[in-house]
Amino acid sequence: MKNYHACNCHIIPPFVVDELKKSGVNISTQTKTISREFRARRAEQISLRNSQPFLLAPPTKNSDRFVYDSKATQHQRLLLVRKEGGVASTDQVVNKVYENAGAVRDYYKKAFNYLSVDNHGADLILNVHFGQEYANAFWDGDQMTFGDGDGQVFINLANALDVTAHELTHGVVQYTAGLNYQGQSGALNEHYADVFGSVIKQVAKNQTAATADWLIGDEIMGPALQGQALRSMKAPGTAYNNSLMGKDPQPDHMNTIYKGSADNGGVHINSGIPNKVFFLVATAIQTDKAALLWFETLKTLKPTTSFKSFKTAMLKLAKKLAKAGSVPATTEATVKQSFEAVGL
Ligand SMILES: [Zn+2]
Repeated sequence: MKNYHACNCHIIPPFVVDELKKSGVNISTQTKTISREFRARRAEQISLRNSQPFLLAPPTKNSDRFVYDSKATQHQRLLLVRKEGGVASTDQVVNKVYENAGAVRDYYKKAFNYLSVDNHGADLILNVHFGQEYANAFWDGDQMTFGDGDGQVFINLANALDVTAHELTHGVVQYTAGLNYQGQSGALNEHYADVFGSVIKQVAKNQTAATADWLIGDEIMGPALQGQALRSMKAPGTAYNNSLMGKDPQPDHMNTIYKGSADNGGVHINSGIPNKVFFLVATAIQTDKAALLWFETLKTLKPTTSFKSFKTAMLKLAKKLAKAGSVPATTEATVKQSFEAVGL
């Protein structure tokens, strides 16, 4: 059995929520109240799984999608509105999240023969219309939940493929490396969610490393934040700079790594450093090859992996995959140079 370190991972980081509140935006995220409730239930589920591994489904099971409508309440799995193979809904948000989750599931199967978030074909539970104008989306250890946004600052969070791919990848990380959601291992957890958020968006849009925008969350920005994004993997620290959100705090080099305690020790901040590494490697060897290297490395990481040990693990995998002909022979050197470029 692997570790099951689940995070309560929200796409809109706490420091952005704080800035918006300071700017007078009455944004509903209500994370404090709900996170306690989720944490308690999740801890229960995780200890159950760890003590009774036979409860896990056999690997041959199909991963089915279930979309629930929270009907503007904070209840999950409230009203089932679409299930695998069922008829489309008249609600386009329901259909969109159904399609997006399918694209993520199909990507992991096609690219890595990895089945759903747990490689055991877990069903994908998706809750939409959560809360009132709730401006966030999150993975809480066993399901995804999306708010509608306020329509001005953020539009419906279920619309964007990179958001769904980011959040479901938190599930994949939970069942593979189980990276602790704190400090550098937490930043790596966020990093992986951004990597596959961007990779799956590139696949869906038929883009390459050269033509992709490398932005995360640009499609959930409302009219008040047109042209901004939550993060840029290509140029961390430049995704946004406006009177509502303040300035993107992501570093792109170890020289400017965040050392404070906010945001679980900067999990959404310091992810900029490995994000830049992925951008550099994908640009050199193509996104699909870089994605393979990142995924194979993920399976070897530990819950406490630091940036330095991440580099060591990846160099090992680069050598191994190059030997097998799965990535270009130059990959190990490219990885080394790319980590060096961010001071690692
Ligand atoms: Zn995240």
